[in-house]
Amino acid sequence: MTDRHILTAVAWPYANGPRHIGHVSGFGVPSDVFSRFHRMSGDQVLMVSGTDEHGTPITVAADAEGITPRQIADRNNRVIVDDLASLGLSYDLFTRTTTANHRAVSQEIFLGLLKNGYVFPQTTLGAISPSTGRTLPDRYIEGTCPICGYDGARGDQCDNCGNQLDPIDLVNPVSRINGETPKFVEEEHYFLDLPAFTRALGDWLGTRGNWRPNVLNFSVNLLEDLKPRSYTRDIDWGVPVPLDGWRDRPDKRIYVWFDAVVGYLSASIEWARRSGDPEAWRQWWQAPDSDAYYFMGKDNIVFHSEIWPAQLLGYNGAGDKGGTPGSYGRLNLPTEVVSSEFLTMEGRKFSSSRNVVIYVRDFLARYDADALRYFIAVAGPENQDTDFTWAEFLRRNNDELVAGWGNLVNRSVSMAAKNVGAVPTPGELTDADRALLATTSGAFAPIGELLSRNRQKAAATEAMRVVGEANKYLSDQAPWKLKEDPARRDTVLHTALQAIKDCNALLTPFLPHSSQQVHELLGGTGVWSVAPQVVETEDLDDGSPYPIITGPYDQGQAVWASTPLPPPGTPLAPPKPVFTKLDSSIVEEELRRLEEGGQSGSDGEA
Ligand SMILES: [Zn+2]
Repeated sequence: MTDRHILTAVAWPYANGPRHIGHVSGFGVPSDVFSRFHRMSGDQVLMVSGTDEHGTPITVAADAEGITPRQIADRNNRVIVDDLASLGLSYDLFTRTTTANHRAVSQEIFLGLLKNGYVFPQTTLGAISPSTGRTLPDRYIEGTCPICGYDGARGDQCDNCGNQLDPIDLVNPVSRINGETPKFVEEEHYFLDLPAFTRALGDWLGTRGNWRPNVLNFSVNLLEDLKPRSYTRDIDWGVPVPLDGWRDRPDKRIYVWFDAVVGYLSASIEWARRSGDPEAWRQWWQAPDSDAYYFMGKDNIVFHSEIWPAQLLGYNGAGDKGGTPGSYGRLNLPTEVVSSEFLTMEGRKFSSSRNVVIYVRDFLARYDADALRYFIAVAGPENQDTDFTWAEFLRRNNDELVAGWGNLVNRSVSMAAKNVGAVPTPGELTDADRALLATTSGAFAPIGELLSRNRQKAAATEAMRVVGEANKYLSDQAPWKLKEDPARRDTVLHTALQAIKDCNALLTPFLPHSSQQVHELLGGTGVWSVAPQVVETEDLDDGSPYPIITGPYDQGQAVWASTPLPPPGTPLAPPKPVFTKLDSSIVEEELRRLEEGGQSGSDGEA
């Protein structure tokens, strides 16, 4: 193990429905590839996230079904947990924002900001119902969006253009309860003083020259026009405001966006509490030489390069108003905000409501998790918007995974199993043997360098190029023609199997499931790459049950280096194919499904 601590902070999926493959191509697979690579390198990784369960869309869905927001959150939390674990995403802790721990940590951050003056009360215009005199929650006010003109915008956001709104911004606002025009009266809310962080955010971004240029440019541009943003909202579902006179009010809560980003910290603290060392989170959040990488789709950049860093700077007392750190002490800012671009599907934007979608669970019911992970890694939206097509998925699966990598494994292990029945004994190596082994063992440094910079597409492409070299070696050396020279045949097969062992390690961050199979085909025993586990657990403070994702990732044998095959004589069995060749008819079938909108669980919004 190294002493390097790396926090992998993965965007929190919103719990209003199941996640589709566009979502997991942005936050899911890239963060897992990164974490697995660093664990293999001996670094101490803490990968955290959970479901984001507060906010208006959950309450709207609950109203529509006549159940509670908590019931909606419970249902979707479980679906999302199962899907992400099936995809092999190796969270140290995947939790949720409705825990008592998260509530307490969110309130501590609010109080730290308040103490330093970065959260301040301000009189603002809030909506009440003229007939009852009661506060109208944001979601019960509808009107025309002042930005895009959409006539079904809600009091806190417009679903058409995605902008956050205040009820007072709406043109022709009406109450969704009884159609009356709400009355706006003066009331108090708390605001985050974003302009007080313009200088500190600018200084910090000035040191972030190694970010993807589009993320950095977008983030710097945000600083031109920072305005205070309301930290509390008129809603009855969220983290209560921890102040006398506010705590027990049913209609005022911390705004969902401000509590969701605190989740990175609260999940780290929950992980530490569950590990038996409640202070263990501090090594990732406070050691000056630890690193924190945040993974998300580009629609979330603002919350990770502006809002969350401002909350951290204010809590630390490091904005224009000065101050002192809150009771946790000083907290680290992100090292890098790693944002993906968007994935589209067959040329169209994903949309659950219009059924342009394939959910993770539907995908995994028909295809292997590693096939999806490979597509996302090698052809995903790493630095430009990218279209998912079934034809391209079929081609990548059949030509690259099956005919390239899978075939190399299959024919080498088959030949060794058939002719020797065990790992063969090598004789003296030729120049060709040494050249191949130099290529495969020499690939760890350059591919590792690409992975450490999150150039995952280039890393996957280079790993597959090395696989191509091994295939070429096998064709050139043609061990099947060496019946008369078994000693040379065994040397060739041993060399090929060692090259496969190296390639398997190089591909493990991308293909954790099949890399375990290849490990076993090569005569290896025990766990090579650790699969995440869904564990039924209880809230540490209030005892309510929920599932988490976690795993004993330090127990895997996979390391980021060339390691020797099991000793000659270790039994080898004839292999079963590692990857499944897909029939070309799946393209037409899937396009027909898309046209019919026949996907399961389309109860959530994209
Ligand atoms: Zn709009």
